[in-house]
Amino acid sequence: MSLDPRHAVYAGSFDPPTAGHLDLIRRGAALFGRLTVAVGVNPDKQTLMTADERVTLLEELTAGIDNVRVGSFSGLTVDFVRDEGAAVMLRGLRGLADIELELTMSLTNRSLAPDIETVFLMANAEYTHISSTLIKQIAKLGGPGVTGQLRELVPAPVVAPLLAKYHGE
Ligand code: ADP
Repeated sequence: MSLDPRHAVYAGSFDPPTAGHLDLIRRGAALFGRLTVAVGVNPDKQTLMTADERVTLLEELTAGIDNVRVGSFSGLTVDFVRDEGAAVMLRGLRGLADIELELTMSLTNRSLAPDIETVFLMANAEYTHISSTLIKQIAKLGGPGVTGQLRELVPAPVVAPLLAKYHGE
């Protein structure tokens, strides 16, 4: 089956989805005809949110973007991308540390699937410092002002479910 070069898959852990992820989704959706946002499920990796929770949040965040669909997969990302019929994997780069990792990953993926290209978008300057790991630390350790702090870092619908994970409902 030939793969569609106008269809990209943006795969990640999204644990939780951040403002940086959403920015990349919006920009990817503007570039490609179709964008599939894919939550990777790795049973060996401990996550804060379940795959279903992450999918539901991403669906809410992308509800207004017509050409975006949200899914989940386990196994190799390239296999999911091929099953989708997409020819492109979209990834974000925040800085040198990302480049190092992403280069290795994209070369490995190319050897597994030479007909699938990885396309990188540079993070927007206002989001380069944002990572899911950092956000989890703030949610866990933050004081009374934590809701306001998180609103700068994650889309609004993510704040309450994220805080509930550490501090109850
Ligand atoms: P993974 O476990 O695959 O690294 P992530 O959910 O952390 O999953 O990230 C998925 C993709 O989004 C990666 O390409 C990552 O570089 C990119 N990304 C993460 N945070 C940002 C951000 N703040 N701005 C732009 N891209 C980002």
